[in-house]
Amino acid sequence: MLEMKAFVKCIKKENEMKDNLDTMMDCVIKDKPEVGLTITKKPIPKDLKDDEVLIKVHHTSICGTDYHIYEYNDWAKNRLKLPFTAGHEFSGEVIKIGEAVTRVAIGDIVSAETHIICGECEFCLRGEGHICENTQIIGVDTDGCFAEYVRIPAMNCFINSKDANPLHLSVQEPLGNAVHTMTHFDLEGKDIVVVGCGPIGLMGVNVAKAYKAKKVIAIEVNDYRLNLAKEIGADVVINPLREDVIKRVLEETNGRGADVIGEFSGSKVAIESAFKYIKKGGGLSMLGIPSRDVDIDVANDIVFKGIRIYGVTGRRIYSTWEQVKELVDNNMLDLDKIITHVFPMSKIHEAMEIMGSGNSGKIVLVPGE
Ligand SMILES: [Zn+2]
Ligand SMILES: [Zn+2]
Repeated sequence: MLEMKAFVKCIKKENEMKDNLDTMMDCVIKDKPEVGLTITKKPIPKDLKDDEVLIKVHHTSICGTDYHIYEYNDWAKNRLKLPFTAGHEFSGEVIKIGEAVTRVAIGDIVSAETHIICGECEFCLRGEGHICENTQIIGVDTDGCFAEYVRIPAMNCFINSKDANPLHLSVQEPLGNAVHTMTHFDLEGKDIVVVGCGPIGLMGVNVAKAYKAKKVIAIEVNDYRLNLAKEIGADVVINPLREDVIKRVLEETNGRGADVIGEFSGSKVAIESAFKYIKKGGGLSMLGIPSRDVDIDVANDIVFKGIRIYGVTGRRIYSTWEQVKELVDNNMLDLDKIITHVFPMSKIHEAMEIMGSGNSGKIVLVPGE
């Protein structure tokens, strides 16, 4: 009898362990106010609110924001509430839906608009949810997708084509930033400058070519990235460490300057130069975030030139995504060249080091590996 009891207990324990395996997931969390991230296990989110979905993450890509979270810079110190699961760019499969969800179904392959918006403020109500005053960000304000599973509001799902390349699907959110930045002004037949060729700037070069720009001039201080820009179709590449940027852009544009500039660098010097080589009546779209004040000759370089300046926050929900989908589904970009590294998620520290070196394009992680 005693033996039997011990046997039952043993079976019970085995089942508990199995249960544990089925309910826990690998994830990457930010839990310490210092450089680094922690690889750990957490319970798979179980309880869904009526409007939420649970997604099995297939691929997730590393954003500049994730790097700031990793290095714990001043922005991170002021903004983050620890602990939380990092990551916001991904593609994956919907495996469970809340009771009120009708927008997406189990089995859908989705990516996420990472801004969780209120739908009620002045900006949401007038169709400009990308500047919602109550925005929360997945993987910053809520648990993110550096995990095997992520739970998000159904409203934030963008449904992908089932046969699209899964690697490409995971970088659509930053690609949306590039599309939003570059296509705000008309590009066809125009002279375009892309300032800063990190992953999003590289996508900007690609987008400008896809939208039939006449000439795309890429500006970047890192030669690895400048070469990538050239490979994906930049007609002219300029390294400001070696050349006079203003002089060269004017030479390349018959002395008139650039019709449209996509500003991805956030560099004070680069932004100040852009105001000097923008053409009269030109358009300047700004995504890069400068950490210092920028000196601009407002009278001569804005007013008398009659230029237009557009600040880019996130993506237009969901019109930018529709543009992204068209580009991805029709294979109109060189995303295989822009995605330079794919790592198992367990190698996230290595991935962050490479990202920090600047010698990479987009880096993708595979959870569960
Ligand atoms: Zn991002
Ligand atoms: Zn709102």
